[in-house]
Amino acid sequence: MTNSLKEFQMTASKLAREAHAQERGVPPPDPYDEKKFPFGRPPGDNKFGFKVCATCGKPPTETGRNDIPKAFLFRNELSVIEYGISGMCQVCQDSVFNCEKVEKESK
Ligand SMILES: [Zn+2]
Repeated sequence: MTNSLKEFQMTASKLAREAHAQERGVPPPDPYDEKKFPFGRPPGDNKFGFKVCATCGKPPTETGRNDIPKAFLFRNELSVIEYGISGMCQVCQDSVFNCEKVEKESK
């Protein structure tokens, strides 16, 4: 992966997280953390064919793997299925579906 692309992704992620924190009062978990989000789906694998998040424009995560170089990472299979329908990243799904309760319970 190139450093500039990674930097762009980290900046986009930071901005999305800050916006989320401002709107909801709590920061979302790091959407690039593969340990927290072990489920992935390739970018564009949704009914709209969007290659970035449909609502915040977040690019997919560089996985560093040859078989799946880029993916959107999700908490569980339900979120993966939702990505296929709406094209939304995990942070946006949490924001829309008000998942703070789930986040607190999983800590
Ligand atoms: Zn998003």
